[in-house]
Amino acid sequence: MERVISVSLGEVVLKGKNRKHFESKLIGQIKRSIDDIGFKSVYKDMGKVYIEADFENFDIIIERVKHVFGIVYISPCIKVSRELDGIEEGVKVAVKEALEKNPEIKTFKGFSKRADKHYELNSMEVNNEIGGTVLKNFDLKVDVHNPDLYVYCDIKKEAYIYTERVKAYGGLPMGTNGKGILLLSGGIDSPVAGFLMAKRGVQIDAVHFHSYPFTSERAEEKVFKLAEILSSYTGNMKIHSINLLNIQKEINKNCPPEEMTIISRRFMMRIAEKLSQTNEYKSIITGENLGQVASQTIDGLTVTDAMTNRLVFRPLIGMDKVDIIDIAKKIGTYETSILPFEDCCTVFLPKHPSLRPQLEDIKESEEPLDTEALVDDSINNMQIIRIKEGEIIHEEK
Ligand code: ATP
Ligand code: MG
Repeated sequence: MERVISVSLGEVVLKGKNRKHFESKLIGQIKRSIDDIGFKSVYKDMGKVYIEADFENFDIIIERVKHVFGIVYISPCIKVSRELDGIEEGVKVAVKEALEKNPEIKTFKGFSKRADKHYELNSMEVNNEIGGTVLKNFDLKVDVHNPDLYVYCDIKKEAYIYTERVKAYGGLPMGTNGKGILLLSGGIDSPVAGFLMAKRGVQIDAVHFHSYPFTSERAEEKVFKLAEILSSYTGNMKIHSINLLNIQKEINKNCPPEEMTIISRRFMMRIAEKLSQTNEYKSIITGENLGQVASQTIDGLTVTDAMTNRLVFRPLIGMDKVDIIDIAKKIGTYETSILPFEDCCTVFLPKHPSLRPQLEDIKESEEPLDTEALVDDSINNMQIIRIKEGEIIHEEK
């Protein structure tokens, strides 16, 4: 009898010809996520991935692997030979442990899956074996509709018995949908937006805009902290930190005050677009949400969107704030997001931002600005910060 962790793959299994490629990416990411803890092997057995490691590390390994996208369930398993003796032994141990954890359990159901159709018993017969073993050894009753405990048995080259299924995030393996650049502010929304697109396989780097010295260093550190939390899902990340102050001053001097925010946002897009060209980002990701603030009205978004030809992902566009907050709490960014530091957008904040900006008007307002020089200048002066294996590293210029 051995102990292993089983990992159930989600949509990866639907990927037909690409399946092998997706699986090997995923296995690489599982290994990387637990590299520092240590493991014996990660192997495949008929559709699932298994991790062999020290039993005492199972909890922490499961916690880490939960953050790898492309996985739906993770289970600590007992691996036995698929002879009936083996299955009986495994079931006894698994149920005994489940009862130790939760003595309230009164009913159970055997739930087997036969991946190897050559196996001599069918699923129904294996379920009967499980049922017989449990009834003989424990004071539990069968309930096929609403059991307190499921006793799972996967018949593969070996048999795997388990009673727990830890839900993971699903999605697709990181990097299977190209690279994208996340506009990361210090707020609640943009980290959630980054998480959701990463979950669909987009590998993420970030750009952050600040207005130092009008905004503080601590405000920036907060953003790096958010990136660090995100990186537990997304892996290593490059952050472009850009000072927008000069651009904001120019806008302030030359453009109508009610257009301050929308024109700043167009500069953010211009800069993201330019960074995309040099870094091969195929998409731009923002935390914009329809109607949330003045710059996120239909007209506002139209004017911002016109600044780039690249695909812009706004995964929060139709969500309610409460639902965004729920995700932020679940992924662990919320507590950091609500720390009260100033954002670059609050500098020069107009009293009455325009709610219905029109592209032609905005273009006209921008005419006095040397947009290209301003963009280039801000990029030339940017700082690069990297999140590498969970550490925040400031790159020398
Ligand atoms: P968030 O909670 O993400 O800050 P928000 O509700 O405050 O969003 P806005 O300030 O209008 O909304 O920003 C909309 C989106 O624009 C953000 O989600 C983010 O993607 C991008 N953005 C805003 N400010 C910055 C910034 N300082 N640096 C990088 N991106 C930003
Ligand atoms: Mg914001």
